[in-house]
Amino acid sequence: MASKAIDIRQATTGDRLFTQIGAFLTAHRLSPDPAHYAFAYEVLKNAGGVIARRVAEITDGGVRLTAQDIEQLGGRAIAGAPVTDTDSEPMVADTATHEAMIERVLMQIDGFGDTMRNAHADANTFGRDLERSAAQMRDAGPAASAEEIGRLTDNMIERVRQAEAKLDAARRETDELRTALEEARGSARTDPLTDLPNRRAFDEAFAALPPSTPIVVSICDIDHFKRVNDSFGHAVGDRVIRAVAKTLAEQCDCLVARYGGEEFALLFRNLSLDEAARRLEKARHDMSARRLRVRETGEAIGTISFSAGVAEGVPSEGRAAMIGRADAALYRAKDQGRARTIMAP
Ligand code: GH3
Ligand code: MG
Ligand code: MG
Repeated sequence: MASKAIDIRQATTGDRLFTQIGAFLTAHRLSPDPAHYAFAYEVLKNAGGVIARRVAEITDGGVRLTAQDIEQLGGRAIAGAPVTDTDSEPMVADTATHEAMIERVLMQIDGFGDTMRNAHADANTFGRDLERSAAQMRDAGPAASAEEIGRLTDNMIERVRQAEAKLDAARRETDELRTALEEARGSARTDPLTDLPNRRAFDEAFAALPPSTPIVVSICDIDHFKRVNDSFGHAVGDRVIRAVAKTLAEQCDCLVARYGGEEFALLFRNLSLDEAARRLEKARHDMSARRLRVRETGEAIGTISFSAGVAEGVPSEGRAAMIGRADAALYRAKDQGRARTIMAP
Protein backbone atom coordinates (compact mmCIF):
# COMPACT_ATOMS: atom_id res chain seq x y z
CA MET A 1 0.00 0.00 0.00
CA ALA A 2 2.69 2.41 1.04
CA SER A 3 4.82 1.82 -2.05
CA LYS A 4 1.78 2.31 -4.26
CA ALA A 5 1.10 5.71 -2.67
CA ILE A 6 4.70 6.75 -3.33
CA ASP A 7 4.42 5.60 -6.97
CA ILE A 8 1.43 7.82 -7.52
CA ARG A 9 3.26 10.77 -6.03
CA GLN A 10 6.30 10.14 -8.21
CA ALA A 11 4.14 9.68 -11.28
CA THR A 12 2.88 13.25 -10.99
CA THR A 13 6.51 14.54 -10.81
CA GLY A 14 4.96 17.62 -9.27
CA ASP A 15 6.41 17.14 -5.82
CA ARG A 16 8.68 20.20 -5.96
CA LEU A 17 6.17 22.30 -7.85
CA PHE A 18 3.49 21.31 -5.34
CA THR A 19 5.68 22.51 -2.44
CA GLN A 20 6.48 25.74 -4.30
CA ILE A 21 2.80 26.39 -4.96
CA GLY A 22 2.05 25.94 -1.26
CA ALA A 23 4.85 28.35 -0.30
CA PHE A 24 3.66 30.86 -2.92
CA LEU A 25 0.06 30.83 -1.63
CA THR A 26 1.32 31.24 1.95
CA ALA A 27 3.70 34.08 1.06
CA HIS A 28 0.97 36.01 -0.75
CA ARG A 29 -1.73 35.14 1.78
CA LEU A 30 -3.89 33.59 -0.92
CA SER A 31 -6.63 31.18 0.12
CA PRO A 32 -6.30 27.57 -1.11
CA ASP A 33 -8.81 28.19 -3.88
CA PRO A 34 -8.46 26.36 -7.24
CA ALA A 35 -8.21 29.72 -9.03
CA HIS A 36 -5.22 30.64 -6.83
CA TYR A 37 -3.62 27.24 -7.39
CA ALA A 38 -4.03 27.73 -11.13
CA PHE A 39 -2.39 31.16 -10.97
CA ALA A 40 0.47 29.92 -8.79
CA TYR A 41 0.96 27.02 -11.19
CA GLU A 42 1.20 29.42 -14.15
CA VAL A 43 3.80 31.52 -12.29
CA LEU A 44 5.92 28.65 -11.03
CA LYS A 45 5.90 26.11 -13.84
CA ASN A 46 8.01 28.41 -16.00
CA ALA A 47 10.40 30.37 -13.79
CA GLY A 48 11.82 32.41 -16.67
CA GLY A 49 8.46 33.14 -18.29
CA VAL A 50 6.75 36.50 -18.71
CA ILE A 51 4.34 36.02 -15.79
CA ALA A 52 7.09 34.83 -13.43
CA ARG A 53 9.29 37.80 -14.38
CA ARG A 54 6.44 40.27 -13.87
CA VAL A 55 5.62 38.75 -10.47
CA ALA A 56 9.30 39.03 -9.49
CA GLU A 57 9.25 42.72 -10.44
CA ILE A 58 6.08 43.44 -8.50
CA THR A 59 7.15 41.55 -5.40
CA ASP A 60 10.68 42.94 -5.29
CA GLY A 61 11.50 43.92 -1.70
CA GLY A 62 9.07 41.44 -0.17
CA VAL A 63 5.89 43.14 -1.40
CA ARG A 64 2.91 40.82 -1.56
CA LEU A 65 0.76 40.42 -4.70
CA THR A 66 -2.62 42.11 -4.60
CA ALA A 67 -5.89 40.85 -6.08
CA GLN A 68 -5.44 43.55 -8.73
CA ASP A 69 -1.97 42.26 -9.68
CA ILE A 70 -3.26 38.71 -10.04
CA GLU A 71 -6.09 39.81 -12.29
CA GLN A 72 -3.82 42.00 -14.41
CA LEU A 73 -1.59 38.97 -14.94
CA GLY A 74 -4.50 36.88 -16.19
CA GLY A 75 -5.35 35.11 -12.95
CA ARG A 76 -8.49 35.22 -10.85
CA ALA A 77 -8.38 36.43 -7.23
CA ILE A 78 -10.84 35.02 -4.73
CA ALA A 79 -11.61 36.81 -1.50
CA GLY A 80 -11.33 34.51 1.48
CA ALA A 81 -9.25 33.31 4.35
CA PRO A 82 -5.56 33.08 3.52
CA VAL A 83 -3.60 29.85 3.91
CA THR A 84 -1.80 31.36 6.87
CA ASP A 85 -1.09 34.85 8.01
CA THR A 86 2.63 34.62 8.53
CA ASP A 87 3.31 38.28 8.05
CA SER A 88 1.07 39.98 10.55
CA GLU A 89 2.54 41.29 13.77
CA PRO A 90 5.94 39.64 13.41
CA MET A 91 7.29 41.45 16.48
CA VAL A 92 4.66 39.88 18.71
CA ALA A 93 5.15 36.40 17.27
CA ASP A 94 8.92 36.55 17.53
CA THR A 95 8.91 37.90 21.05
CA ALA A 96 6.69 34.96 21.95
CA THR A 97 9.16 32.59 20.26
CA HIS A 98 12.00 34.08 22.25
CA GLU A 99 10.09 33.74 25.51
CA ALA A 100 9.14 30.16 24.67
CA MET A 101 12.80 29.42 24.05
CA ILE A 102 13.83 30.86 27.41
CA GLU A 103 11.03 28.86 29.05
CA ARG A 104 12.36 25.71 27.38
CA VAL A 105 15.90 26.35 28.62
CA LEU A 106 14.64 26.95 32.15
CA MET A 107 12.66 23.70 32.05
CA GLN A 108 15.72 21.83 30.82
CA ILE A 109 17.83 23.32 33.58
CA ASP A 110 15.24 22.12 36.13
CA GLY A 111 15.23 18.64 34.55
CA PHE A 112 19.02 18.53 34.50
CA GLY A 113 19.14 19.57 38.15
CA ASP A 114 16.83 16.64 39.02
CA THR A 115 18.96 14.19 37.04
CA MET A 116 22.13 15.36 38.77
CA ARG A 117 20.53 15.16 42.24
CA ASN A 118 19.35 11.59 41.48
CA ALA A 119 22.78 10.62 40.16
CA HIS A 120 24.40 12.02 43.29
CA ALA A 121 22.01 10.10 45.58
CA ASP A 122 22.59 6.91 43.51
CA ALA A 123 26.35 7.28 43.73
CA ASN A 124 26.11 7.56 47.52
CA THR A 125 23.93 4.45 47.82
CA PHE A 126 26.14 2.57 45.39
CA GLY A 127 29.24 3.47 47.40
CA ARG A 128 27.62 2.16 50.59
CA ASP A 129 26.47 -1.06 48.82
CA LEU A 130 29.99 -1.66 47.50
CA GLU A 131 31.44 -1.25 50.99
CA ARG A 132 28.82 -3.67 52.34
CA SER A 133 29.58 -6.27 49.64
CA ALA A 134 33.33 -6.00 50.27
CA ALA A 135 32.72 -6.44 54.02
CA GLN A 136 30.53 -9.50 53.35
CA MET A 137 33.29 -11.08 51.26
CA ARG A 138 35.93 -10.32 53.89
CA ASP A 139 33.72 -11.80 56.63
CA ALA A 140 33.05 -14.97 54.66
CA GLY A 141 36.81 -15.29 54.04
CA PRO A 142 38.07 -18.35 52.21
CA ALA A 143 34.82 -20.09 53.12
CA ALA A 144 32.82 -17.89 50.68
CA SER A 145 31.22 -20.03 48.02
CA ALA A 146 31.85 -19.35 44.37
CA GLU A 147 28.09 -18.88 44.06
CA GLU A 148 28.06 -16.18 46.73
CA ILE A 149 31.00 -14.30 45.14
CA GLY A 150 29.31 -14.58 41.73
CA ARG A 151 26.07 -13.14 43.10
CA LEU A 152 27.81 -10.15 44.70
CA THR A 153 29.85 -9.50 41.54
CA ASP A 154 26.78 -9.72 39.25
CA ASN A 155 25.01 -7.34 41.55
CA MET A 156 27.85 -4.82 41.32
CA ILE A 157 28.11 -5.16 37.54
CA GLU A 158 24.38 -4.45 37.20
CA ARG A 159 24.71 -1.39 39.39
CA VAL A 160 27.62 -0.10 37.28
CA ARG A 161 25.49 -0.58 34.13
CA GLN A 162 22.64 1.40 35.63
CA ALA A 163 25.03 4.18 36.64
CA GLU A 164 26.41 4.29 33.08
CA ALA A 165 22.92 4.55 31.59
CA LYS A 166 22.12 7.44 33.94
CA LEU A 167 25.36 9.21 33.03
CA ASP A 168 24.51 8.78 29.34
CA ALA A 169 21.11 10.35 29.94
CA ALA A 170 22.76 13.22 31.81
CA ARG A 171 25.22 13.72 28.93
CA ARG A 172 22.33 13.87 26.44
CA GLU A 173 20.54 16.39 28.62
CA THR A 174 23.68 18.55 28.80
CA ASP A 175 23.93 18.48 24.98
CA GLU A 176 20.29 19.52 24.63
CA LEU A 177 20.80 22.24 27.18
CA ARG A 178 23.84 23.55 25.30
CA THR A 179 21.89 23.63 22.00
CA ALA A 180 18.95 25.40 23.62
CA LEU A 181 21.26 27.96 25.21
CA GLU A 182 23.01 28.60 21.89
CA GLU A 183 19.63 29.17 20.22
CA ALA A 184 18.54 31.49 23.02
CA ARG A 185 21.83 33.38 22.81
CA GLY A 186 21.39 33.76 19.03
CA SER A 187 17.87 35.08 19.39
CA ALA A 188 19.00 37.55 22.06
CA ARG A 189 21.35 39.04 19.46
CA THR A 190 18.97 39.02 16.51
CA ASP A 191 16.41 41.64 15.66
CA PRO A 192 13.12 39.77 15.19
CA LEU A 193 11.68 42.17 12.60
CA THR A 194 14.58 42.12 10.14
CA ASP A 195 16.55 39.04 11.24
CA LEU A 196 19.61 41.28 11.28
CA PRO A 197 22.00 41.35 14.25
CA ASN A 198 20.69 43.80 16.85
CA ARG A 199 22.40 46.64 18.69
CA ARG A 200 23.80 44.31 21.32
CA ALA A 201 25.37 42.08 18.63
CA PHE A 202 26.86 45.16 16.95
CA ASP A 203 28.32 46.46 20.22
CA GLU A 204 29.80 43.07 21.02
CA ALA A 205 31.30 42.74 17.52
CA PHE A 206 32.88 46.18 17.94
CA ALA A 207 34.27 45.28 21.37
CA ALA A 208 35.84 42.11 19.95
CA LEU A 209 37.83 43.98 17.24
CA PRO A 210 41.62 44.18 17.54
CA PRO A 211 42.28 47.80 18.71
CA SER A 212 44.17 48.90 15.61
CA THR A 213 42.12 47.31 12.77
CA PRO A 214 41.15 49.96 10.22
CA ILE A 215 37.36 50.21 10.30
CA VAL A 216 34.52 52.33 8.97
CA VAL A 217 31.36 52.76 11.00
CA SER A 218 28.13 54.04 9.50
CA ILE A 219 24.75 55.06 10.86
CA CYS A 220 21.84 55.08 8.37
CA ASP A 221 18.40 56.43 9.06
CA ILE A 222 15.34 56.10 6.81
CA ASP A 223 14.17 59.50 5.56
CA HIS A 224 10.75 60.81 6.55
CA PHE A 225 9.81 57.43 7.88
CA LYS A 226 7.08 58.85 10.07
CA ARG A 227 5.21 59.72 6.87
CA VAL A 228 5.20 56.05 5.84
CA ASN A 229 3.70 55.03 9.16
CA ASP A 230 1.24 57.92 9.14
CA SER A 231 0.06 57.32 5.58
CA PHE A 232 0.03 53.52 5.40
CA GLY A 233 0.12 52.22 8.94
CA HIS A 234 2.68 50.58 11.16
CA ALA A 235 2.56 47.16 9.44
CA VAL A 236 3.55 48.70 6.11
CA GLY A 237 6.24 50.71 7.95
CA ASP A 238 7.59 47.42 9.28
CA ARG A 239 7.79 45.99 5.77
CA VAL A 240 9.68 49.07 4.59
CA ILE A 241 12.18 48.62 7.44
CA ARG A 242 12.62 45.01 6.33
CA ALA A 243 13.13 46.01 2.69
CA VAL A 244 15.81 48.59 3.64
CA ALA A 245 17.48 46.04 5.96
CA LYS A 246 17.65 43.50 3.14
CA THR A 247 19.04 45.99 0.63
CA LEU A 248 21.75 47.21 3.04
CA ALA A 249 22.75 43.65 3.91
CA GLU A 250 22.93 42.63 0.24
CA GLN A 251 24.80 45.67 -1.03
CA CYS A 252 27.16 46.51 1.80
CA ASP A 253 28.71 43.09 2.48
CA CYS A 254 29.63 43.95 6.06
CA LEU A 255 28.07 43.70 9.52
CA VAL A 256 24.67 45.42 9.23
CA ALA A 257 22.72 45.72 12.47
CA ARG A 258 19.34 47.22 13.27
CA TYR A 259 20.44 49.82 15.79
CA GLY A 260 17.11 51.40 16.60
CA GLY A 261 13.62 51.88 15.13
CA GLU A 262 14.47 52.85 11.54
CA GLU A 263 18.20 53.17 12.11
CA PHE A 264 20.96 50.79 11.06
CA ALA A 265 24.60 50.60 12.12
CA LEU A 266 27.20 49.18 9.74
CA LEU A 267 30.71 48.02 10.47
CA PHE A 268 33.21 47.65 7.62
CA ARG A 269 36.62 46.13 8.25
CA ASN A 270 39.70 46.86 6.17
CA LEU A 271 37.77 48.97 3.69
CA SER A 272 38.41 52.59 2.71
CA LEU A 273 35.99 55.34 3.67
CA ASP A 274 35.34 55.98 -0.04
CA GLU A 275 34.50 52.34 -0.75
CA ALA A 276 32.18 52.10 2.27
CA ALA A 277 30.37 55.25 1.14
CA ARG A 278 30.17 53.88 -2.41
CA ARG A 279 28.45 50.71 -1.18
CA LEU A 280 25.98 52.71 0.87
CA GLU A 281 25.18 54.91 -2.12
CA LYS A 282 24.64 51.78 -4.24
CA ALA A 283 22.20 50.46 -1.59
CA ARG A 284 20.42 53.81 -1.54
CA HIS A 285 20.06 53.86 -5.33
CA ASP A 286 18.77 50.29 -5.36
CA MET A 287 16.24 51.18 -2.71
CA SER A 288 15.03 54.27 -4.55
CA ALA A 289 14.64 52.26 -7.77
CA ARG A 290 12.08 50.00 -6.10
CA ARG A 291 8.44 50.63 -6.62
CA LEU A 292 7.13 49.55 -3.25
CA ARG A 293 3.39 49.24 -2.95
CA VAL A 294 0.94 48.31 -0.22
CA ARG A 295 0.17 44.63 -0.74
CA GLU A 296 -3.45 44.76 0.22
CA THR A 297 -4.46 47.81 -1.83
CA GLY A 298 -1.77 48.16 -4.50
CA GLU A 299 -1.26 51.79 -3.47
CA ALA A 300 2.20 53.16 -4.29
CA ILE A 301 4.30 53.84 -1.19
CA GLY A 302 6.62 56.16 -3.09
CA THR A 303 10.39 56.34 -3.08
CA ILE A 304 12.12 55.24 0.08
CA SER A 305 15.48 56.81 0.76
CA PHE A 306 17.83 56.96 3.65
CA SER A 307 20.64 59.20 4.84
CA ALA A 308 23.95 57.91 6.11
CA GLY A 309 26.97 59.17 7.99
CA VAL A 310 30.29 57.33 7.73
CA ALA A 311 33.33 57.62 9.95
CA GLU A 312 36.74 56.03 9.52
CA GLY A 313 39.03 55.10 12.38
CA VAL A 314 40.32 52.36 14.64
CA PRO A 315 38.46 50.59 17.48
CA SER A 316 40.80 52.07 20.11
CA GLU A 317 39.00 55.40 19.55
CA GLY A 318 36.03 53.77 21.30
CA ARG A 319 32.62 52.77 20.03
CA ALA A 320 30.73 55.75 21.42
CA ALA A 321 33.18 58.24 19.88
CA MET A 322 33.11 56.60 16.43
CA ILE A 323 29.33 56.21 16.40
CA GLY A 324 29.10 59.83 17.59
CA ARG A 325 31.13 61.02 14.56
CA ALA A 326 29.06 58.88 12.16
CA ASP A 327 25.88 60.22 13.76
CA ALA A 328 27.05 63.84 13.42
CA ALA A 329 27.72 63.18 9.70
CA LEU A 330 24.24 61.60 9.40
CA TYR A 331 22.67 64.73 10.82
CA ARG A 332 24.57 66.86 8.32
CA ALA A 333 23.16 64.58 5.60
CA LYS A 334 19.65 65.21 6.95
CA ASP A 335 20.30 68.98 7.11
CA GLN A 336 21.58 69.06 3.56
CA GLY A 337 18.35 67.59 2.21
CA ARG A 338 18.51 63.84 3.08
CA ALA A 339 19.01 60.93 0.62
CA ARG A 340 22.81 61.15 0.74
CA THR A 341 25.93 59.83 2.46
CA ILE A 342 28.25 62.20 4.27
CA MET A 343 31.76 61.37 5.43
CA ALA A 344 32.85 62.45 8.89
CA PRO A 345 36.02 64.59 8.98
P1 GH3 B 1 13.96 61.92 9.30
O1 GH3 B 1 14.10 61.96 7.83
O2 GH3 B 1 14.34 63.19 9.94
O3 GH3 B 1 14.69 60.76 9.89
O4 GH3 B 1 12.41 61.73 9.57
P2 GH3 B 1 11.66 60.53 10.27
O5 GH3 B 1 10.21 60.71 10.05
O6 GH3 B 1 12.23 59.25 9.80
O7 GH3 B 1 12.09 60.79 11.74
P3 GH3 B 1 11.89 60.19 13.14
O8 GH3 B 1 13.19 59.59 13.57
O9 GH3 B 1 11.38 61.29 14.00
O10 GH3 B 1 10.78 59.07 13.01
C1 GH3 B 1 11.05 57.75 13.10
C2 GH3 B 1 9.76 57.02 13.26
O11 GH3 B 1 9.97 55.62 13.16
C3 GH3 B 1 9.10 57.22 14.59
C4 GH3 B 1 8.64 55.87 15.04
O12 GH3 B 1 7.27 55.85 15.26
C5 GH3 B 1 8.92 54.99 13.85
N1 GH3 B 1 9.36 53.66 14.23
C6 GH3 B 1 10.35 53.33 15.09
N2 GH3 B 1 10.47 51.98 15.16
C7 GH3 B 1 9.54 51.45 14.32
C8 GH3 B 1 9.17 50.12 13.97
O13 GH3 B 1 9.73 49.13 14.42
N3 GH3 B 1 8.17 49.96 13.06
C9 GH3 B 1 7.53 51.04 12.52
N4 GH3 B 1 6.57 50.80 11.63
N5 GH3 B 1 7.84 52.29 12.86
C10 GH3 B 1 8.83 52.52 13.74
MG1 MG C 1 15.39 58.02 13.35
MG1 MG D 1 14.23 58.74 10.04
